[in-house]
Amino acid sequence: MDRTFLMVKPDGVQRGLIGEVIARFEAKGLKMVAGKFEMLPEERVMEHYAEHAAKPFFPGLKSYIMSGPCFLMVFEGKDVVAVTRKMIGATNPAEAEPGTIRGDFAMEIGMNVIHGSDSYETAEREIGIHFRPEEIISYERADEKYLY
Ligand code: ADP
Ligand code: MG
Repeated sequence: MDRTFLMVKPDGVQRGLIGEVIARFEAKGLKMVAGKFEMLPEERVMEHYAEHAAKPFFPGLKSYIMSGPCFLMVFEGKDVVAVTRKMIGATNPAEAEPGTIRGDFAMEIGMNVIHGSDSYETAEREIGIHFRPEEIISYERADEKYLY
C-alpha cells in the first residue's frame, strides 16, 4: 500500500491541532502506521529540507521547525500522497481552499501547520530520514472492507 510522511509542525502542536489533523486523515480512511512526538535535531532538519537550503526563507524555516516539538507520522492508503496533499492545501494559506487544513487553520506561509510529502520518491526519502523500519507497524483497520 502507498505510504507518505506527514508532520504537524510546531505552530500546529502549540495551537492544539494534532488531534484535528489526525482526525481528518483517519476519517477519510487513511491509516496511521507510525507516529511520534519529538524535537527535530538540526541534522534531520537540514536533510529533510535540503531542497530549500539555499532559499532566502530557509533560516526562518529552520528556526521555526526547531522552535518546538513536532508530531511525525506515516500514513498508508490508496493514492495517499495525492489525497493528503489535496487535504493539506496550498503552501500559502491565503491561497489554500477552505476545507483544507491550511485553508481552515493557517494565516502565514511561514507557519502553515503541517508538512506532507509531495511525491512517492520524496515520501520514501522522508520516511527514511525520520523513522526506523521497526517504528512502522502494519495492521488491518476494521473498516477496510468498507473503504476498498
Ligand atoms: P510545501 O510544504 O507545501 O511542500 P514547500 O516544499 O515549497 O511547500 O516549502 C516547504 C516549507 O517552507 C513550507 O511549508 C513553508 O513552511 C516554508 N516556506 C515555503 N515558501 C516560503 C516562503 N516564501 N516564506 C516563508 N516560508 C516558506
Ligand atoms: Mg514541500
